[in-house]
Amino acid sequence: MSKVDDFTKQLAEVALLKPRGKKGSRVAEPIYTRQVATIVGVKTTASRFLPVSHEGHSNETYVDKLELTLNGAAKTRAEFIGRKLKGIERRAHMSLFREMMERKAKKEWQETFAAHFDKPCVIPDELCLACWNCSLFGGLEAGKGATFSRIRYFDTYSIEDALDCVASESSDEGMGIGNTVFEDINKPRTAETYHLYEYVKAGTRFPFITIIESPTLLDVVGYLHAVRRADAHGYGKYSANHGKFDTKFLAVATGYPRFSVLDMLTWAEKGELEKQFADGKVQFDSLEKAVGLFEANEIEKLAEHLSKAFDAYYDALT
Ligand SMILES: [Zn+2]
Repeated sequence: MSKVDDFTKQLAEVALLKPRGKKGSRVAEPIYTRQVATIVGVKTTASRFLPVSHEGHSNETYVDKLELTLNGAAKTRAEFIGRKLKGIERRAHMSLFREMMERKAKKEWQETFAAHFDKPCVIPDELCLACWNCSLFGGLEAGKGATFSRIRYFDTYSIEDALDCVASESSDEGMGIGNTVFEDINKPRTAETYHLYEYVKAGTRFPFITIIESPTLLDVVGYLHAVRRADAHGYGKYSANHGKFDTKFLAVATGYPRFSVLDMLTWAEKGELEKQFADGKVQFDSLEKAVGLFEANEIEKLAEHLSKAFDAYYDALT
């Protein structure tokens, strides 16, 4: 039996994602299998990236930064908060989900969602609590209750020093210059017609860890595809033309990681981040024997299970 088969064998049945309850009040109730899956990788910026989680003031925007001391050495790094990662990947996951639903049902997604989840699910204000997306990312609805998020994100930081990876007032590039929406081309440029922004330069790396609780095969492979979709769409402020990423998955494993994002940054400092995964030195804690996929072709093999896993979900619904 292949390692990919060993891995999928430890996951919960896709059919368990089917919402329960009476028509009109269906909820995707979490199934607690006490198993988790961990996905680890490195995201590299392919364009300018603006991780901004605070409100700007005046007409200048600054990227989130944090000074971290690892092994006694302090370094300021660009910060990419888990909440932002989750928000973008949730939307990418929903767009993938709707597309697959339309392809399968040969109907508009709104119609199929209404039939199986009581209403079309819309992020963030009209969550249905019954669909696959709500089951994975959680939701809250007045009068109906809540579903807990089964996916956990962690804040991450650039491997590179902010002095090198952030274009700022003091860097060679200087800050980026953007037009405000109100710009009138007939008027001279003033502080009212443009704004200045710091940005993370292309080629900056962010290690990440994502944990999925009570995972089904569809959750794990759907997540892999959602990340790729989000990479192409863009993360952060002005994501229409900024915030593109390339993601390299280093591990997809059952069990909790015995390491953190900070450990990954420390390994990267020593230039041995990928080596830790290639050599299978990293460990995962699981009730059963943890199965880890580290090779790119194994992870790709797993990702190819998407339509098969989605078929199982669709069959359970109909
Ligand atoms: Zn939903």
